Amino acid sequence: MDRGGAWVNGGRAALDFNPSRWPLAGMDSLDAFAGDKLAALEAGALRRRLTGTTRAEGATASRDGRTLISFSCNDYLGLSHHPRVVAAAQAALAGHGAGAGGSRLVTGNHPVLTALEARLAAHKGTEAALVFGSGYLANLGITPALAGKGDLVVLDELSHACMWAGAKLSGARILTFRHNDVADLAAQLAASRADHPRVLVLTERVFSMDGDRAPMEDILAVARDFDAWTLVDDAHGIGIVEDGPRAPLEMGTLSKSLGSYGGYLCASQAVIDLLTCRARSFVYTTGLPPASAAAALEALAILEEEPERCARPLMLARRFTTRLGLPEAESAVVPVIVGDAQTALALSAKLEAAGFLVVAIRPPTVPAGTARLRIAFSAAHSESQVDALAAAVARFRAG
Ligand SMILES: *Cc1c(COP(=O)(O)O)cnc(C)c1O
Repeated sequence: MDRGGAWVNGGRAALDFNPSRWPLAGMDSLDAFAGDKLAALEAGALRRRLTGTTRAEGATASRDGRTLISFSCNDYLGLSHHPRVVAAAQAALAGHGAGAGGSRLVTGNHPVLTALEARLAAHKGTEAALVFGSGYLANLGITPALAGKGDLVVLDELSHACMWAGAKLSGARILTFRHNDVADLAAQLAASRADHPRVLVLTERVFSMDGDRAPMEDILAVARDFDAWTLVDDAHGIGIVEDGPRAPLEMGTLSKSLGSYGGYLCASQAVIDLLTCRARSFVYTTGLPPASAAAALEALAILEEEPERCARPLMLARRFTTRLGLPEAESAVVPVIVGDAQTALALSAKLEAAGFLVVAIRPPTVPAGTARLRIAFSAAHSESQVDALAAAVARFRAG
C-alpha cells in the first residue's frame, strides 16, 4: 500500500484516502526511527529495494520492460514453469480452491499434502515426512520442538538465517563450529556434550551463499559418537547433489529445485508424529494451499524421471568455474566474491546492462567483507548463455 493509503487496482485507486482512518498523530518518532535506520543502511550500501520482476520459461526475468537471462533464481531445474507442474497446480486450484482454509490440524489437511509427504519420504528414504508452509517455517518449528532450555544447539557458522532463528527460538544454548570444520565440531561437543541432556547439530548439505557442500559423512559420524541429533538443511541439494548419507532430520524447501512453495521435514515416524503436535510453526499456521502441494508433487515426479535434467545445473556450474579459473563448482551455486558491497553492486549493474540478471549479495546475508555475486545455474540455461556470462564476468572484473 502506498503512503496515500490507497491501493491501485488496474490503474485506478480502489479506495480513497481518508485521514481519519489512518491517524498519523504520535507516529513521528516511529518514522524518524525508520528514517535514521534507512540512512545508516544507505551509507553502507546495504539498503535493499524491491524491484518488480516477472519470470518466464527459459530462465528469463523481465524488469522495467527489459528481458534478462537470470542467473539469480533458485529454480535450478526450471520446473516452476514446466507445463506438467503448471497443469497440476491449475487442476488443484480449479478443484480445491486457492487456500487451505485452516491449520492442517483443523481442516487444512488436504489429501494432496499427505500424498506429497509420502512421496518426499520415499524420495529421502525416511519413514515419514511433514510439509510446512515454507522452509523458513520448517526451521522455525523443528529445533524448538526438539530442544529447549538446558539443551545445546551447535551450528555451522554459515548456517542459513532460519536455522539461527529456530535455534534462538528454542531457548537452548547456542554454539557455532567453524564452517565445515568437523574437528572443531568434535572439539565443541567434547567440551560441552556432558552439560546438556539433548544436543542438536545443524548444517546445510549445500551452503546457500557459497555453494560448497558439508562433509556429511564425517559430521554424522561425530554427531553419532556424541549422541547428538543432526538436522541438515537440504534446500539447495535436492535434485542437484543427492549422494552421500542421510541425516536423521532432513529438512528442505519446495521452492527451489521443486519450483513451487512450501517446506518439509523428512524423519522417522516418531519424530514426525511429535512435530505434528509440537512444531508451533506447523500447528498455529494455515496449511499449504493444495495447488502448491500439487505442483511440488508433480515436480518431484519429473525430478525422479529425468536424471539428465538433474545433472545439468552442476555440469553448467562446472563449465563456468572452469572458464573463469575458479575452484570447481560443488553445486548449482557459484559465488564470485568481490569484497565490499559497493563493488558487488557495481558489477551486478554492469552485468544487468549486458543482459544478465545476477543479483549482488551483501551483508548481513553474507559476512562483512565478502559481498559477492551469487550465480545460480539452472537446467533451463544453455551452454552458450553460460559461456556469455563467463566472458562478461571476466571482462567486468578486469575493470
Ligand atoms: C531458501 C532457504 C530456506 C528457506 O526456504 P523457503 O521455503 O524459501 O522459506 C531455508 N534454508 C536455506 C538454506 C535456504 O536457502
